[in-house]
Amino acid sequence: MPVLDNRTALVVGGGSGIGRAIAESFAREGARVAVADRAGAAVPLDVTDEDSVRAAVDQVTRELGRIDVLVNSAGILTEAPLVEMDAATWAETISVDLTGVFLCCRHVVPGMVERGFGRVINIASQLGIKGGRSLAHYAAAKAGVIGLTKSLALEVAEHGVLVNAIAPGPVETPMVAGITDEWKAAKRAELPLGRFGTPEEVAPTAVLLASEPGGNLFVGQTLGPNSGDVMP
Ligand code: NAD
Repeated sequence: MPVLDNRTALVVGGGSGIGRAIAESFAREGARVAVADRAGAAVPLDVTDEDSVRAAVDQVTRELGRIDVLVNSAGILTEAPLVEMDAATWAETISVDLTGVFLCCRHVVPGMVERGFGRVINIASQLGIKGGRSLAHYAAAKAGVIGLTKSLALEVAEHGVLVNAIAPGPVETPMVAGITDEWKAAKRAELPLGRFGTPEEVAPTAVLLASEPGGNLFVGQTLGPNSGDVMP
């Protein structure tokens, strides 16, 4: 039997890459899935705009009846050495990659608490644990996601809402298409498997965290398998 039968899910940032693979896996496992993204998705959503988040959550709640599983996969990545970075670049990354996760959780989790069931899966990054050269803004946002995940997990676990994060290593998606070849080659060389992961290799971890009983005892964890990287 599919492990997400009768579940509903909202995948934010599900129009591309890791989010899309997770949305497809959830659907294969029997969930009814709403995909929200900045462009080209059934549910239009800008995670940096609270009104937009509120409207998207209302729309999905109307269409699916409730949201059992929330995946936060929207994100942006740019390269800039900290000592040359302008404040706007810093602020934009924090806004999308960290505040966006806050806003989506803020508007979805209360309904989960009310119903006594929910699963939140935030896509962090190994860079949020290890840091990354020319990626201080991104690494800081992802470290923030891990802190947010642990803290929210402590607040809502007693209401049946389990909040966890996945911290993949480098994954072949449109996000990394713009990164320099030098960075990619250096990164590949330090990966034990010698290659980037694929979105399809990340998705099963999200299915595990969303499923019962598989995900039942994960609370505030940051899982890093399927990434071709090693958790420090
Ligand atoms: P991607 O670019 O394929 O997907 C990101 C999605 O987020 C896109 O569909 C984009 O439209 C959406 N998005 C961006 N800004 C948004 C906004 N303001 N509002 C709504 N949607 C917005 O990239 P991906 O690699 O699949 O990234 C998914 C998540 O995984 C991100 O949080 C990323 O930081 C994280 N991650 C990626 C890697 C990697 O190497 N690709 C590694 C670790 C973590």
